[in-house]
Amino acid sequence: MADLNWNRIDWSALYEAGRRAALARPTRRSDDSVSSVVREIFDDVRTRGGQAVTDWAVRLDKAPPRRVAVTEEAVAKARDTLPPADTRAIRIAAENVRVFHQATRPEDSPFIETTPGVLSRLVWRPIGAAGLYVPGGTAPLFSSLLMLAIPAEVAGVGRRVAVTPPRPDGSVHPAMILAAAEAGLEEIWLLGGAQAIAALTFGAVLEDGEIAPCDKLFGPGNAYVAEAKRQASALPGGPAQDMPAGPSELLVIADRDTDFEIAAADLLSQAEHDADAQVILVSDSRTAVAGILEEVERQLPSLPRAEVARASLSEARIVLVRDREEACAVSNLYGPEHLSIQTRDPEEMVEQITAAGAVFVGGWAAETLGDYAAGPSHVLPTDGGARTLGGITTASFMTSMSVQTVTQAGAAALAPVAARLARLEGLEAHARSADLRSGS
Ligand code: NAD
Repeated sequence: MADLNWNRIDWSALYEAGRRAALARPTRRSDDSVSSVVREIFDDVRTRGGQAVTDWAVRLDKAPPRRVAVTEEAVAKARDTLPPADTRAIRIAAENVRVFHQATRPEDSPFIETTPGVLSRLVWRPIGAAGLYVPGGTAPLFSSLLMLAIPAEVAGVGRRVAVTPPRPDGSVHPAMILAAAEAGLEEIWLLGGAQAIAALTFGAVLEDGEIAPCDKLFGPGNAYVAEAKRQASALPGGPAQDMPAGPSELLVIADRDTDFEIAAADLLSQAEHDADAQVILVSDSRTAVAGILEEVERQLPSLPRAEVARASLSEARIVLVRDREEACAVSNLYGPEHLSIQTRDPEEMVEQITAAGAVFVGGWAAETLGDYAAGPSHVLPTDGGARTLGGITTASFMTSMSVQTVTQAGAAALAPVAARLARLEGLEAHARSADLRSGS
């Protein structure tokens, strides 16, 4: 068994700059070649439209874009291909995701009366069109389809456009059809990578129909997809994006009470995503670190995706800390997509956590349960985005607006204040507009 070359960091021995450097994401993801390929694809799609989308799809994924209608026949056929337990599992996951997002959908606030007769409230409205990217390069992540399309549906988004790469033989995984049906989608486009993001940004007329431009782009993806979303959202008038959701990350906090087998299994479940996936183990116990590493070595060889996991583990880090406060500080500085606290007192530690996409509390709360079926969306910010952004919720598919209603008496009370402030800023037209309401 090849010994994994773990990158060990002794936290107490480092100054602030060294600590930040020790937790930096691997540089290969921000590789210039990724952004230049994406720019080339965007320029081409902007000028040549659907034909460019098709050409890039054929070049990179060996298949032209295809529209798959989620008809009753297609669903029945997909159901026939899979064991009934698979269909049931997809249904349970979809139900849990729907229940969680219905319960957490933002509600319009009541009217707040700041001055008698001046009433304001916050109301929420769904966005018009959402582009949903469902990764499929190395594994068909139909779970991501549920985690995006259901919150969008609960939010009431008018148009949801789902795209996902074709399988190597050009087909779609039957579970993707079932997930689309559970999410109430009528179609999915088999189109992946930056060319899919370009189509959702500029719109594309394709052989099977039209993809119209979307208002906001959602979903995880590899470095090309993440960079494409970034470039799209930087375009003047371009679509907004949900968040940086690139290669997946897991930070596990362990102590000597941690179940080493479980912690190792969780680290491996993250590492098998792709070579760029990042795993970090933070512990105040050398015994725990040694035990977990031994377990990783033991479990790794029997995994079907052992090579992918091994590549990802080459970037793995172990951070040795003095105590649990320092463990939380490391995690907050890194801002992991997933944080798993597998210590004796996980609930107490949650109070000290300020930046993570999703927190899994204790050994029973496996990230895998959250990845598939617990209810909250698994589409979460990576690359430190969690320091300022949350993951996908129903609110991600909505906008809020304030609504202000003022009575004549309310205007008379507030207009002198507004007029005074306007004149203080040198804005006379504002002040006169207020004066007209002051009743004097
Ligand atoms: P993907 O669908 O993101 O990417 C596949 C596409 O990449 C292909 O369709 C292809 O067009 C394009 N591509 C591949 N090589 C290219 C090249 N050399 N040049 C230009 N384009 C190229 O699927 P994936 O690769 O399996 O990646 C999925 C990613 O999503 C993983 O990194 C995983 O960790 C991440 N993920 C993140 C979250 C989250 O919430 N952050 C959730 C699930 C998955």
